[in-house]
Amino acid sequence: MTSLRRERQNYVRKPNLAHVKAAGHDMLRLVNRRILLSILSDRQPISRADIAKISGLNKATVSTITSDLLKEGFVVEDGLGRTTPSGGKPPTPLRINELRYGLFGLDIRADETILALSDFRGRIVARRSFETEADPHRFLKRIGAEIIDLRVEHKELIEIGGVGVSLPGLVDNHTGTFLTSVVLPWHDVLVVKWLEDATGLPVIVDNSARCAALAEIWHGKAQYAHVRNLLYVSVSSGLACGVVVDGGLYRGGTNTAGQFGHTSIAFNGPECRCGQRGCWDLYASDNATVARYKKMRNGVVKRNLTMRRVVELVESGDPAATEAIRETARYLGIGITGLINGLDPEVIVIGGEITKAWELIEPIIGTEVKRNLLRPHDRNIAIRRSAFEVRPSLRGALTLVLNDLLSLPHIG
Ligand SMILES: [Zn+2]
Repeated sequence: MTSLRRERQNYVRKPNLAHVKAAGHDMLRLVNRRILLSILSDRQPISRADIAKISGLNKATVSTITSDLLKEGFVVEDGLGRTTPSGGKPPTPLRINELRYGLFGLDIRADETILALSDFRGRIVARRSFETEADPHRFLKRIGAEIIDLRVEHKELIEIGGVGVSLPGLVDNHTGTFLTSVVLPWHDVLVVKWLEDATGLPVIVDNSARCAALAEIWHGKAQYAHVRNLLYVSVSSGLACGVVVDGGLYRGGTNTAGQFGHTSIAFNGPECRCGQRGCWDLYASDNATVARYKKMRNGVVKRNLTMRRVVELVESGDPAATEAIRETARYLGIGITGLINGLDPEVIVIGGEITKAWELIEPIIGTEVKRNLLRPHDRNIAIRRSAFEVRPSLRGALTLVLNDLLSLPHIG
C-alpha cells in the first residue's frame, strides 16, 4: 500500500452498511471486502491469487469474499484467463462491475455549479451545469430534484453510492456545514442535511482544495506513490490549499485548514474581502488574473470575461493575456515558496484553469521558487500540474463518495 493511500483509511465519514446488513455480514467481513475492492479498483483485471498475494489475506478468505461480491454484483469475471505456461487451468481475472454503483459529484463554485453522475469506475455518464444561486436552501432543493431526475434517467446504475459535494470556502465536514467564504455569500449552510432531505441519499462535503487533493491521492500519477507530504494549490476564483502531511490530509483544530490564500504577502496592499490587506488571493487567484487583464486592456473587454477565456487568449497569442498570466505565475511562485519553506512538502500540485497554460507558467513559478527558497541547492521540489485539467474539484467531489465506499470503516 502506498503511503498516500493510507489516507483512504483516515477519511471515512461513516461506513455504508446498508448492503452488509442485508447480507448479514460481520464487521471483519466488511473490512476484508473493502480491502479487496480497493485492490480491485487499483489493479483490475486481477486474479484471486494475485489479490491474496497483495492483500495478505489467505486464498480461502479471498475466494469466499469474491464469491459473495460476484453474487451481489459488485464484481464480475473478466472473460477467460490466459493459459498458464504449464497448461494448467487459467485463473479468471476479476473486475469491478462499473454499473454496481453510481456516484454523484457536485462542484459548487461562486459562479457555476456542476452536477455529474459517474459509474463505479469514475466514468462520467451525465453532467449538468447551473448558475449558482444566492439563496442556498432554494438552490440545494433544486439540485436535489436534479439528482432525483438523473437517478431516474440512469436506471442502469444499480445503486447510488452517495453525493460528494465540493464547496469553495470554509467547510466543517464533520457537521456537514458550509461555514463561510469570501467568494460565495453563503453562511452556515446545512448542505448535508438539506441535500440528504431532498434526495434520500448519503451526502459528504468538503472544501474544494481538499477534495482536489484527495482526487490527486486516489487518481494521481504513480510518481506520488512514495510521497508522504504533498501540497495541493487550488487556483480558482479564490486560492486555497489541500495539505497532505505524513500521508494524511491535514484538517486543523476546527476542520478549516488550508486557507493560505488569505495570508498577506503585501502589508500595504489592497484590502481583501476577508478584512486583511494584500492577501495572496488578491494577486494569484483567477479573479486577480481576470482583473489584471481587464486593467491591461483599459477595461475594453467583453462583459463576463472568464479565466477560461483569458487562457484561450494566451493560446491565440494575445500579449496582454500572456503578460497577465505571467504575472500571476510570479505571485504563485512567491506564495508557494513561503509554503515550501514552512511545510517542506516533497511535491506541489497546482490545479485550475491556469494549468492549461502550463508551458508558460511552470518555468516562471520554478524560477521564483528557486530564487527565494531557503536551501535552494540541496532541495529537489517537484512542481506538477493536477492530473485533472478540467474541474479537479468535480473529480474530488466524486472521489469523496468513492473513498467512502471503498475505505475501511472506523471500528469502535
Ligand atoms: Zn483575504
